[in-house]
Amino acid sequence: MSYFQRIALKKFFKYANDNNTIHSDNCNRIYALKEDYLQTIDGVIRFLQGNNPTFARQICTDNFLPEDARFDQLDDMDWAFGSMGMLDKAKHLATLYLEDLSDFIIECIDPNFGFSRYAERLGQSANSFDELYDNLHKDLTYIDRITLKILDHRLQETTPKWVCISVPFPGNLYSAFRCAQFIKQNYPQIVISMGGGFPNTELRSVSDTRVFDFFDYITLDDGELPIELLYNFICSEKKTGTIPELKRTFLLQNGQVVYHNTSKRSDYKQADVGTPDYSDLLLKKYISVIEIANPMHSLWSDGRWNKLTMAHGCYWGKCTFCDISLDYIKIYEPVAAKLLVDRMETLIEQTGENGFHFVDEAAPPALMKAVALEIIKRKLVVTWWTNIRFEKNFTKDLCLLLKASGCIAVSGGLEVASDRLLKLIDKGVTVAQVAQVTRNFTEANIMVHAY
Ligand code: SF4
Repeated sequence: MSYFQRIALKKFFKYANDNNTIHSDNCNRIYALKEDYLQTIDGVIRFLQGNNPTFARQICTDNFLPEDARFDQLDDMDWAFGSMGMLDKAKHLATLYLEDLSDFIIECIDPNFGFSRYAERLGQSANSFDELYDNLHKDLTYIDRITLKILDHRLQETTPKWVCISVPFPGNLYSAFRCAQFIKQNYPQIVISMGGGFPNTELRSVSDTRVFDFFDYITLDDGELPIELLYNFICSEKKTGTIPELKRTFLLQNGQVVYHNTSKRSDYKQADVGTPDYSDLLLKKYISVIEIANPMHSLWSDGRWNKLTMAHGCYWGKCTFCDISLDYIKIYEPVAAKLLVDRMETLIEQTGENGFHFVDEAAPPALMKAVALEIIKRKLVVTWWTNIRFEKNFTKDLCLLLKASGCIAVSGGLEVASDRLLKLIDKGVTVAQVAQVTRNFTEANIMVHAY
């Protein structure tokens, strides 16, 4: 069940009213308009799922959607969308409408609620596990109960031996632990492990044994080989009790947290890791939102982008503020252009989507050029964007070629607009160079976002 569904919303309003949790003017107003919200919510969600585009015309009509505090900050709609950008304008208005509802949930139902994150603050105090641990021993929250109901349903449907939970950000950490806790309590035979961006950066020196009340294993960095070795171990018929050779894996042994990295096998090469498989994801149910009326910003939340990487790691690997000692930055390994475009074709077939976000640390210009030529050679119609360094190799000609292949945007780190500081952080670019390169992109009609 989605949080944003008539039936769920009805329960939210009832819970807030029964428990007397509606205090601010803002939430009182939303509650007063509850019939309007209930009447419009399912249509708005269907629209944001990409169905019923004609609904945009209604959404853009004055007073069709109930409006609360989020609409006070409405940008200049004509500047942002013109008079014809009806679809995007409606998406933006529908997003503000959902954000109003989200404010209501935060104030009246569960203060940890967020659109794409939950209890993020608890994940940010990672130095100490105490606060998170305490919260995990409090009663389930309203949102926990929804999450765990879905989890339970999926576990009964699939009866897994092993559940791997990927935790990319602090905003996923609490729920990951809640899910692991639920599995340990109700399905103690299931093995649970954690991997992903959060442990890769924040749990490299985990030593708190309480973490392993929830998870049996934590693996770091590239997951393929650590998971394969763990899989062989978990599934082996004759367990001897001794731990076999593992790769970058934490576990609890004799009451101590131990790091196992004894396997001599090398990680899988990028050429051998295969194409991501999205077939089990409910892609049709995802919503596209436009939180800020800025075309570049909306790329992160609007539309469904197939995710790929052109290269593992960063070819520069020198910036002083960056985690350059970690494998996911340090080990640079590009994928051949032909193979990449093969993977793009496979993903288009699998998902029906021809948009790609290359989630590189910094995509190399030479490889971007080779990929662009391959796309053009195969006459593929695709739309793509990626993260880059503002290299002087991005000449006007190269930018035009990238545009011709479907590149619509790039983002890159400027970090600071001072040559003195850029030198000190070893960024390898100058302000003048960034200005020239961003101009080349802009003149080729490729949007630029600088961090
Ligand atoms: S270019 Fe980006 S990824 Fe590469 S070292 Fe610098 S900050 Fe790190």
